[in-house]
Amino acid sequence: MHNTDKLKQILHKKNLRYTQQRQEVWDEICSTNEHRDAEDIYNSLRKRQTNVSRATVYRTIDVLVKNNLVRRLDLGDGRSRFENKMGIAHHDHIVCLDCRKIVEFMNEEIEEIQEQVAKEMGFEIVRHVHQLFGHCLDEKCPNK
Ligand SMILES: [Zn+2]
Ligand SMILES: [Zn+2]
Repeated sequence: MHNTDKLKQILHKKNLRYTQQRQEVWDEICSTNEHRDAEDIYNSLRKRQTNVSRATVYRTIDVLVKNNLVRRLDLGDGRSRFENKMGIAHHDHIVCLDCRKIVEFMNEEIEEIQEQVAKEMGFEIVRHVHQLFGHCLDEKCPNK
């Protein structure tokens, strides 16, 4: 499904009007695979001279998260990061505690072990959050 149709569909379901501003927010999130907070997304929209208010950005992100189009990441620093989820393969994240770099990974073995553990515990997994935190070995990282 095209991203405009998908947005129209979820807004309709929530009795919210489809607007150019909401489309701009969704397009902005789809334009990159970075993990950004709402303020970063708002600033990019401002830079592109789009006329979207901060309130619209926050509210639209909230609707997108609740409808599974956007993933919200909680990295334990009080700043939620967001990424497009539509059509993106499942992945987990490694976070550098110094430069806050976020790297995506996907490991079949870990995925399978998680399923197996859940099964042994009498659960059927609906979703999981798997995050690793550490110090990156990048020479440009401020911790070096
Ligand atoms: Zn780092
Ligand atoms: Zn990601």
